[in-house]
Amino acid sequence: MIDIATITAVLGAASAGASATGQAVDVVGKLKNLVGSKDDSEAKALAGELADQLYQVRIANLEVVTQLQDLQRQAEKEDEFKQTRALYAPFKLPQGGKVLKLKQGVDDASEHWELICPICAVNNQKIVPLQGSSDHFDLKCANCNSVFPNVTWDTAEVY
Ligand SMILES: [Zn+2]
Repeated sequence: MIDIATITAVLGAASAGASATGQAVDVVGKLKNLVGSKDDSEAKALAGELADQLYQVRIANLEVVTQLQDLQRQAEKEDEFKQTRALYAPFKLPQGGKVLKLKQGVDDASEHWELICPICAVNNQKIVPLQGSSDHFDLKCANCNSVFPNVTWDTAEVY
């Protein structure tokens, strides 16, 4: 999930860039006032200061771009999860385990897991298939280790 800390970090980097840009503009103003003066030592010092400020701006901009790319990747991942999650509905197994089951009539149903872990979907925004042991009495999530009561010997339908 896109977290506030990431957005705060992007804003911090953008703010640092804006502040460094402002300082660079101030230095340019001072340099302009020195145009035509005989002693260029102050102009040289200011040019050095300007180069430093522009370097800071560049670093801050790179930081902003990197963090925005991270946010974009997170947003794409969340979008993909939401689309996949929408294909599933709550389902009660014969022995009472509550899982998420692929809805009827989903296009490309064979491309998706039949049953997924509801806990991983809710807590971690993850699509994790449920696996049965050899007897399928329980289904297990390999990610969070949750166990869902599935069938007994006399239950006809086995997943
Ligand atoms: Zn799980």
